[in-house]
Amino acid sequence: MSHMSNYSSQSVKAFAKAVLRGFGCNDGEAEIVASHLVDANLTGHDSHGIGMLPLYGEQILDGNLIPNQQPVLHEPVGAISIVDARRGFGHRMALEALDHAMQCVPEHKVAILALRDSGHVSRLGAYSEYCAAKGYVSLHMVNVVGHAPIVAPFGARESGFSTNPISMAMPVGGKARPLLDIATSTVAFGKVRVASNKGEQMPAGCLVDEQGLETRDPDPMAKSRIGALSAFGAHKGSGLGIFVELLAGALASTDTVATMEHLPHGVINNMFSVIIDPTAFDSQEAVEKRTMEFYDFIKARQPAVGTDSVQLPGEPEQHNRQQRTDNGIPVDDETVRQIVDIATRFDLSGDDTAGLLNPVGN
Ligand code: NAD
Repeated sequence: MSHMSNYSSQSVKAFAKAVLRGFGCNDGEAEIVASHLVDANLTGHDSHGIGMLPLYGEQILDGNLIPNQQPVLHEPVGAISIVDARRGFGHRMALEALDHAMQCVPEHKVAILALRDSGHVSRLGAYSEYCAAKGYVSLHMVNVVGHAPIVAPFGARESGFSTNPISMAMPVGGKARPLLDIATSTVAFGKVRVASNKGEQMPAGCLVDEQGLETRDPDPMAKSRIGALSAFGAHKGSGLGIFVELLAGALASTDTVATMEHLPHGVINNMFSVIIDPTAFDSQEAVEKRTMEFYDFIKARQPAVGTDSVQLPGEPEQHNRQQRTDNGIPVDDETVRQIVDIATRFDLSGDDTAGLLNPVGN
């Protein structure tokens, strides 16, 4: 098992930012991407944290991820905005696209966004939080193309789509509460990479081997893309994954996984977002009050035997953010090694990058 250390979130961000600057990102872009990745680590989603940097570096070297890209912001048609990200860093492209789309909200009370051909947008919950901070309800769906599909549709022994995540949140006091943010596979692919780097087995029900039989070994999938992830919830999660592909791919973009070319190290995201001003329905206060009445009603349900308390979606992330801000972000040595490795291919040294990591007491 790879050795883990806890690093202060500030130092993880400085490390990520130095690597991104080395990749050629300007200061503003490096700040946005590093903040996104570190926040993913803070929320407990290490699969979408700094461990993504080696892939981003490979994509830049291949010419399929373009630092400092300018998105094309098409003139809205009614409440619908289309933004062509031209393979820019998705973390920045998605925020600029949301800002562009949200200009329609004052007139229409709703905005619908199609973000096309973007680099990896990473943790979708970040975009629900961004909309909630402005007082908006939002729903985001992302299809994942540019590589062979990795999720087996219900009833198949081979893959037919990818992890196709969905995020949605209500705005309460400028926070996303509750905040649901899920891949439609049982787990995100990055969690297979994290388990493989740590030398751990996967939980049951996440992976199938090339025969379609359940396996807990992450290595064949993480290292050679052998086997497939399972869709969550049998035919129901599989059906949702199919509709994410249709809304984000067939409707909002120009490609589904059925037609998109497979790029070396390819991960292209298309995002379909619906952003709603709740004041079209009632006062903000009234909607927030009903949301929290229901929130508290769920919190008050008797927990199952062996469970301390019922949590709403978004609560584990809030808890992790607090805990990891206080105690540091655990990162395994293998992940640090992979990041330093890619950084050296952009002429950065380990001192320029890993030298910035500051371990905190465990
Ligand atoms: P997950 O299985 O950890 O589920 C996370 C969701 O479940 C959160 O809303 C969380 O609050 C909720 N949750 C977890 N435990 C809970 C509990 N005990 N009670 C109540 N709610 C609980 O996450 P995942 O499906 O593996 O997705 C991880 C991340 O990967 C997400 O941020 C997603 O956006 C991201 N992702 C991104 C892409 C991409 O291409 N950009 C693709 C797939 C996934």
